[in-house]
Amino acid sequence: MSAHWGLSEEQQALLELVRDIARRDVAPHADELERAEEFPRAAFEALGKAGLLGLPYPEEYGGGAQPSWVYLMVLEELAAAHLAVGLGVSVQTLTMFPTFAYGTDTQKAAWLPPGCSGEWIGAYCLSEPAGGSDAAALTTKAERDGDSLVISGRKAFVTHGGEADFYQVFARTGDAGPSGISCVFVPASAPGIVREKLEHKMGMRSSPTAAMVFDGTRVPADNIVGAPGEGFRIAMQALDGGRLGIAACSVGLARAALDAALAFTRERRQFGKPLVEFQGLSFMLADMATQIEAARALTLDAARRRDAGAPFSTNAAMAKLFASDTAMRVTTDAVQAHGGYGYVEEFPVERYMREAKVLQIVEGTNQIQRLVIGRNITRQE
Ligand SMILES: Cc1cc2nc3c(=O)[nH]c(=O)nc-3n(C[C@H](O)[C@H](O)[C@H](O)COP(=O)(O)OP(=O)(O)OC[C@H]3O[C@@H](n4cnc5c(N)ncnc54)[C@H](O)[C@@H]3O)c2cc1C
Repeated sequence: MSAHWGLSEEQQALLELVRDIARRDVAPHADELERAEEFPRAAFEALGKAGLLGLPYPEEYGGGAQPSWVYLMVLEELAAAHLAVGLGVSVQTLTMFPTFAYGTDTQKAAWLPPGCSGEWIGAYCLSEPAGGSDAAALTTKAERDGDSLVISGRKAFVTHGGEADFYQVFARTGDAGPSGISCVFVPASAPGIVREKLEHKMGMRSSPTAAMVFDGTRVPADNIVGAPGEGFRIAMQALDGGRLGIAACSVGLARAALDAALAFTRERRQFGKPLVEFQGLSFMLADMATQIEAARALTLDAARRRDAGAPFSTNAAMAKLFASDTAMRVTTDAVQAHGGYGYVEEFPVERYMREAKVLQIVEGTNQIQRLVIGRNITRQE
């Protein structure tokens, strides 16, 4: 089941194209790539060729000029086929946001087209070993040396770390606290960038997650995006959009789990009839479907607010919180609906359940989403 209404003919064709690519180039390789812990580079190349890696960005930079809600429906399709690909596209979009929203014309012209075409894969480096939630306490430094910036420090859990062609690094150029942080564009070819450790994860194993070291990495001082000291604001704004991406991926993953549960329970019989005919199970399936629809509605509503230029930060946090909790519940129930077959690798639902967990953690844990929502709704006007 998926939402079709409200799409123009052109957008409907875009979604059909994405479904074709998902069916042909993404879904058939998901299991194998997950087992091999191998980055789905071929899928990224296919998506880049089809113009699907820069959907929300302007056409003059090779983007698709699509509203946010259409981009999110595309992510849902990709995540339903393979979460590592959907989440990877979401991260790619996130890494281009600082340049798009705060970059100079020269920076935009140089860095956005290769990101939109997929020639360059991006990574977003905010979290550090000592802190993810308290991102404003980061300690990676970017020190001015003549016309250069010299970056030193460690970044943790970098999606696409080691595979990326550029790193959007948040580093300290000033005093302690959020106002001392700047956003720096770092090409992977810069010296002193080392993948220190590739994490072996519970799920989403084909999406590389790495601890990265920047050891005296020298880039031109012009690579600062936005004003010096504006980095934390940029990082948080980028995450508002990123959270919508995680919400859409959550809806896609949950939808895949529901589809698998429906197929299995229609087929398998106990006590002389198909499992779907037992009310106990059909109620479970009904709850799964209802939660998915609600998660999608919350996600697309937040996106439409963004498209209309309205504040959407609280709504993005609500969508991320609700949709990722939905993905966790629905994938767990999908395993349950399969009985013992849900717990073995022959069926995809055990993988979906392992993958869902990460969605409650990335781009602000769900505790941090509650903190954002609580702070925003209790603020005195
Ligand atoms: C697979 C994967 C990919 C990732 N990709 C990226 C990436 O590309 N770029 C990047 O920068 N980061 C990335 N991250 C990091 C991710 O954003 C952090 O793991 C996350 O923000 C949590 O930070 P932490 O792990 O340091 O946990 P901590 O901040 O130490 O949190 C530990 C626990 O304490 C809770 N907690 C913390 N503070 C509070 C509070 N104030 N109130 C209530 N509870 C609190 C948290 O919710 C959590 O349950 C990735 C992580 C994973 C697992």
